[in-house]
Amino acid sequence: MLNIEKIREDFPILKRKVNGKPLVYFDNAATSQKPQQVIDCLVDYYSNHNANIHRGVHILSQEATDLFENARIKLQKHFNASKAYEIIFTSGTTHGINMISNGFSDLLGVHDEIIVSALEHHSNIVPWQMLCEKTGATLKVIPMNVKGELEMDNFRAMLSEKTKLVFVNHVSNALGTINPIKEIIDLSHAVGAAVLIDGAQATPHLRPDVQALDCDFYVCSAHKLCGPTGIGILYGKESWLNKLPPYQGGGEMISEVTFEKTTYADLPHKFEAGTPNIAGGIAFGAAIDYLNGIGLENIAAYENELLNYGTKRLKEIEGLKIYGPETNKASVISFNIENIHPYDIGSIIDKLGIAVRTGHHCAQPIMDFYKIPGTIRASFAFYNTKEEIDIFVEAVKKAKTMLS
Ligand code: PMP
Repeated sequence: MLNIEKIREDFPILKRKVNGKPLVYFDNAATSQKPQQVIDCLVDYYSNHNANIHRGVHILSQEATDLFENARIKLQKHFNASKAYEIIFTSGTTHGINMISNGFSDLLGVHDEIIVSALEHHSNIVPWQMLCEKTGATLKVIPMNVKGELEMDNFRAMLSEKTKLVFVNHVSNALGTINPIKEIIDLSHAVGAAVLIDGAQATPHLRPDVQALDCDFYVCSAHKLCGPTGIGILYGKESWLNKLPPYQGGGEMISEVTFEKTTYADLPHKFEAGTPNIAGGIAFGAAIDYLNGIGLENIAAYENELLNYGTKRLKEIEGLKIYGPETNKASVISFNIENIHPYDIGSIIDKLGIAVRTGHHCAQPIMDFYKIPGTIRASFAFYNTKEEIDIFVEAVKKAKTMLS
């Protein structure tokens, strides 16, 4: 059992009032709030240890380097990567995906196919479209069904020796669907294709074991799991990271530079050109410590309770339709109310202190599939409560009455 009252004490922003009402923050799928422990970590770094890393002989540089590299080890352990240098610091999920799509530009040709799913965030669609434009490879799409699940028979049928890469999210940020990624990885490997998993929406709720999954790449963003913005990781299997070219050239990523020839540094530095987000990396480690202190399993179980309670309560509202699967989903309720634009509901409940997201959630193809402009998305975190859900449901009812 989680002590939610105590947990909420850790999040200063939860004491805020919005429009004179206590904040109800249900926009966690856009970004999570930050506990004091993570905020303190950032302040401590800048107050006491700030220096550039990996190159100084002085004590501050050594301290900063140790803190940053220790954070990498924490992340390695959390994701169960076999080596710390398989964890590359990025600016977030989008950056990680672009690193890989860029890396494949010399490996693909006109006869090759790459496969995406219909349930993706734009970050896991657009870089691959750009890659296909560059290489002439074909982008295929695993279709979804009306329940918001992937059509796996279709996926099986589209795999062939032409398939070079498959990229799907672990959890859909728009619908909350938990995708069968282990099956997708195994089927893809059977035809020799590499697999990238976008874990941006999964990592706040689940702890992926990259070795057990056997994925080739796994990407996520710290800001969705209580860490700062502007930092994330790319996990890549050592063999792939050695094979792919660096994403950017610059300082830190070289072994030797002459005007005739430059050689690249070993992993992970080959993919970390320039001064990284040092404070962000260290605070990402602090966020992982914080979450593991509560326990990802406990978090997932409690969030599931919130999800079930929220779903049940919202279903009381006539004309309300929830999109996405009934089970096997994580922490997201995406819905609409008959004949009312999602934005109008969002604006009214904002006046009542409730933060939700309205719109396409960077997943326009999903909205096109349902032929809707967007949805209202309530997304929960472990610091939310059933009482907040009650306030939210009453606010949605009120908005419905005002707009009908
Ligand atoms: N993929 C998914 C599934 C997401 O939920 C998000 C963030 N909403 C992203 C990718 C992009 O993450 P970021 O903006 O942190 O790069």
